[in-house]
Amino acid sequence: MNQKIDISVVVPLYNEEESLPELVAWIDRVAKANSLAYEIIMVDDGSSDASWGVVERLKGEYPVIRGISFMRNYGKSAALYCGFEMAEGEVVITMDADLQDSPDEIPELRRMILEDGYDLVSGWKRKRYDPIGKRWPSKFFNLTARIMSGIKLHDFNCGLKAYRRKVVKSIEVYGEMHRYIPILAKHAGFKRIGEKVVEHHERKYGKSKFGLERMVKGYLDLISVSFMSHFGRSPMYIFGGLGTVMFLFGFFAVAWIIAEKFISGHPLTNQPLFYLSLVAIVLGVQLFLAGFLGELINRRSADRNSYQIDKRV
Ligand code: UDP
Ligand code: MG
Repeated sequence: MNQKIDISVVVPLYNEEESLPELVAWIDRVAKANSLAYEIIMVDDGSSDASWGVVERLKGEYPVIRGISFMRNYGKSAALYCGFEMAEGEVVITMDADLQDSPDEIPELRRMILEDGYDLVSGWKRKRYDPIGKRWPSKFFNLTARIMSGIKLHDFNCGLKAYRRKVVKSIEVYGEMHRYIPILAKHAGFKRIGEKVVEHHERKYGKSKFGLERMVKGYLDLISVSFMSHFGRSPMYIFGGLGTVMFLFGFFAVAWIIAEKFISGHPLTNQPLFYLSLVAIVLGVQLFLAGFLGELINRRSADRNSYQIDKRV
């Protein structure tokens, strides 16, 4: 029972009944060949097919399986969150259930965490077997995410990733944030983020669960996640800063326009700059107020003083 677990493989699954037996058998084969003590954590994200029945059946055959099943479909991020909570292994691997990711990558991913010292290693599906309508938006996503986060990864959204256990216990994945786990990890203070080119396969059974609508949500999430990581603790810095700039611009422009009226007699009201400046003053004050409100909300939030502590003596 208390034997050390080398790897926890967390598998979020939503209507993947056909691929589960093959997936589990494959993970088992790889783990045994490398003498790894392992557990498989299957999170059934409210499947409407027979997936949960298959998990229960597989549990009989492979006692290393632990599983939970949601009452309804909450999304991949929720599934990963719960899987991370349950994971006990020294290294935690996440893997899609659809056999698009290869369990053969597990030993090398684990080695990179333990020997090369990475906190997180993300797979990179360099040669990708997905429809083109998915590959191009994904390239765009990755480019934006790279620029916004400063993390040099090619494939943020790869389902196959490996983590040091501490990482998954320190981050909170929600919404459609599973795409940006490396950003969450970086924000939590884990700087050693690596990448490994991984093999990718065409979907053998079932169909993809991510369409365009999810991509739009994912994009908005990218904006929130990078906003939160820059200004989450001090919203006044952004709102107050912008507000001050706008207010000062408006104030001095109006002062100048009024002074000029007295000197040269130009009427105020036929100058576009006058109206722009008034708008700038109003917006500046509004932004400032948004900053104050942000600070007030922050002060009342339960985790305003939650910090990740690394070491103690
Ligand atoms: N998934 C999930 N909940 C969802 C959607 C997907 O747990 O609401 C799982 C799905 O079963 C699979 C993984 O997330 O194991 C990746 O999904 P999918 O293969 O559909 O995405 P794609 O590879 O097409 O990006
Ligand atoms: Mg897939």
